[in-house]
Amino acid sequence: MRIGGLGAKAALLKEQMKKKPCKRCSLHYNHVSFDKCPHCHHLDELRLQQLFVKKEAAFQSRKSIGMLFFILALIAGFLMLVISSL
Ligand SMILES: [Zn+2]
Repeated sequence: MRIGGLGAKAALLKEQMKKKPCKRCSLHYNHVSFDKCPHCHHLDELRLQQLFVKKEAAFQSRKSIGMLFFILALIAGFLMLVISSL
């Protein structure tokens, strides 16, 4: 590995260490650059709930896409087995 690559990795790690999860919305933000969470400090309780609902919906859709790909992989694997046994 190049020295430059290692330095970039260290810089990235340093950058990630600056990030902490917000106590209110649990999203990570850079608490050195921002004294308030940029995700939720401008939101009232109702808007915050809407953010959670949106996050949950995005998570659910990602989960169902993952499941779909898993089923397709199973079908493809099964088809390969059937074809190779002919
Ligand atoms: Zn927040």
